[in-house]
Amino acid sequence: MIDPAERDAIARGRASVLHRIEAAAGRARRDPLDISLVAVTKTLSADRVRAAIAAGLDTVGENRVQEAADKRPDAPGATWHLVGPLQSNKARRAIETFDVIESVDSVDLAEKLSRIALELGRSPLPVLLQVNVDADPAKAGFAPDAIAVSLPPILELAGLRVDGLMTVGRLVADPGAARPTFVALRVLAERLRAADPRLGVELSMGMSDDFEVAVEEGATHVRVGRALFGARP
Ligand SMILES: *Cc1c(COP(=O)(O)O)cnc(C)c1O
Repeated sequence: MIDPAERDAIARGRASVLHRIEAAAGRARRDPLDISLVAVTKTLSADRVRAAIAAGLDTVGENRVQEAADKRPDAPGATWHLVGPLQSNKARRAIETFDVIESVDSVDLAEKLSRIALELGRSPLPVLLQVNVDADPAKAGFAPDAIAVSLPPILELAGLRVDGLMTVGRLVADPGAARPTFVALRVLAERLRAADPRLGVELSMGMSDDFEVAVEEGATHVRVGRALFGARP
């Protein structure tokens, strides 16, 4: 059962976020259709995820494999992205649960995902490589100066399709303060793609507090939770 009031409230949140994405795209002379909204549903019940999908949110992001594996059977009809860190012992479960893995942060993990994707007939598995642009010790991701070395062997893996890069920006009080991180990810992606055009063009960056700045700086995926669903408990 989907609660219609719940669905309508989420639909209003979605309309508002899409409107803000469109305005930010306009400021940057970008086509808003090049930007996809990943609705981050971590901590939301399967019922609310179902309501979100009914409200038109067709791409959901989760940061834990087990939580998503538990909810997905009860919330069909969307594409699921893993946006949180992935431990190598959960790689198989992650592939069984998600359509896209945005948080690949080591060559070892990429190799394992490739092997399992081939084994499960899920190849090529779409992935993004997470970059720790700000070298924040609390965050996962390739160091920006290490990825040039790690990328070539990853691009050779038959089981993966590397769609682009992802980053988690710093928590900042003023959204504009996140801009340098987003610019740095875009510049890094351009440089890497000049060296090897097999790297895809997607840039996953920006969350509730700063997704408009991310869109202005080239995001193709924004990962938004609270601006759609309200504060998490
Ligand atoms: C929780 C989370 C988001 C969404 O955060 P909000 O502030 O709720 O928009 C985006 N990306 C990742 C990796 C997250 O863990």
